[in-house]
Amino acid sequence: MDTILVVNAGSSSVKFQVYSVEGEGTLRRQIKGQMDGIGTRPRLRASGANGDSRADRCYPIEAVANVPAAMEVAGDWLRNEMQVNPLAVGHRVVHGGAEFDRPVLIDHGVVARLDRLVPLAPLHQPHNLAPVRSILVNFPKLPQVACFDTAFHRTHSAVADHYAIPHQLHSEGVRRYGFHGLSYEYISKTLPQIAPEIATRRIIVAHLGSGASMCAIKGGQSVESTMGFTALDGLPMGTRPGQLDPGVVLYLMSEKGLSAAKVQDFLYRDCGLKGLSGISNDMRELEASDSFNAKLAIDCFVYRIGLNAGMLAAALQGLDAFVFTAGIGENSAGIRARVVEHLGWFGVTLDAAENARHARLISRPDSAIPVYVVPTDEELMIAQHTLALLMNGKSHDSRTKRVS
Ligand code: AMP
Repeated sequence: MDTILVVNAGSSSVKFQVYSVEGEGTLRRQIKGQMDGIGTRPRLRASGANGDSRADRCYPIEAVANVPAAMEVAGDWLRNEMQVNPLAVGHRVVHGGAEFDRPVLIDHGVVARLDRLVPLAPLHQPHNLAPVRSILVNFPKLPQVACFDTAFHRTHSAVADHYAIPHQLHSEGVRRYGFHGLSYEYISKTLPQIAPEIATRRIIVAHLGSGASMCAIKGGQSVESTMGFTALDGLPMGTRPGQLDPGVVLYLMSEKGLSAAKVQDFLYRDCGLKGLSGISNDMRELEASDSFNAKLAIDCFVYRIGLNAGMLAAALQGLDAFVFTAGIGENSAGIRARVVEHLGWFGVTLDAAENARHARLISRPDSAIPVYVVPTDEELMIAQHTLALLMNGKSHDSRTKRVS
């Protein structure tokens, strides 16, 4: 079976999916798994196309001490026990900088250019690149493709791309990049099939997961995002604060004596819903809680979504549709209802019954604009890009010998 392997590597986990390549380039998910607890309590779990468990096993720390080791162990399992010998590997890479506006076939030169972007995403980029390097060493002929979270936003205008800081810093790369691009691209590519009447119009997509952002899309292209230089900006998230006056960072450093590393840790791990509620970063727990601070955290979350919707509608000069996606956006009828309340001034009205059953269209017929729920699939997007580059980048016959 021809397959594409998709890899999404973070600091403590490597997630992977295997897609079979079927007639006319259709991709079907066959295996979904992850190695988590890297360096602490390594555990490999994987399921098949029907959600049936294919693996659940623990490893000693020494066997899976870092991301390359995790990739090797997971790769061995895929090859030896699942008989997966992929045609190519697609990687999620958080940062493509100003240069990469689309997925790219990886070679040593590309890795060197992506390495230069590590200072722009120090918590993610090195981990994204680790499996790329280990595959380059161990399987040098296996085609690899990098798919970027930033690429979809490279269509932003110069004004959307700039901070009001001296130009030299912009030239060095201090720009408003925007993230979650693979999710937005997937939604943008899916809308022509499920809602053709709005697909080319002015849309706000709210990607509300453990990371959260919103994107203004016009004519299928991103024109503005709530995220900027890093994935810290914009909406409050599970553990990140979203928009924050830079003065708060100065205060933490000058008055609280926090080092840059401590501030970074604080901003990525201790803020957002978790910091506000003091309970959890998981929306399910907050919705189930009676605590005042859990309620406050939810109120801040939906309030900021409403504010940012106003900002993005200004960027679009109007609004023709609103789309919810990702973990919270797809699954929490309560949060969607609260957000739609904040959109009331647009003339948006919710169909409570359709919302409760997680229907695709959740606004009433009399709503000024339609509101949709569209499940995202970033991994499928990566697999599609990888297959497309494989087919366009080199002829089928000359494709790399498979690894056994
Ligand atoms: P994601 O990052 O897209 O996987 O989203 C993960 C987040 O979605 C979790 O942290 C939860 O807060 C949230 N989530 C998932 N299912 C639900 C649900 N049924 N209700 C509320 N929140 C949910």
